[in-house]
Amino acid sequence: MEKPVKEVQMQFTRRVPLFEHVCPVCDTTFQGAKIAVYCSVKCRKAAAWQRHGKEYNANRKKGAE
Ligand SMILES: [Zn+2]
Repeated sequence: MEKPVKEVQMQFTRRVPLFEHVCPVCDTTFQGAKIAVYCSVKCRKAAAWQRHGKEYNANRKKGAE
């Protein structure tokens, strides 16, 4: 038998302070959370591709065989 539980509805608002950053991919100044590095998902993916593109391609080829 399951333990009895009490359900409580909650709502949160997190206030995240914004900091000025410069995107290393497109050199755009943007505001983001303290740990933000890239201005957009597009730039984040571009950077990941620059770092790991060869691995990604190698894995792709492996998967295709
Ligand atoms: Zn960018």
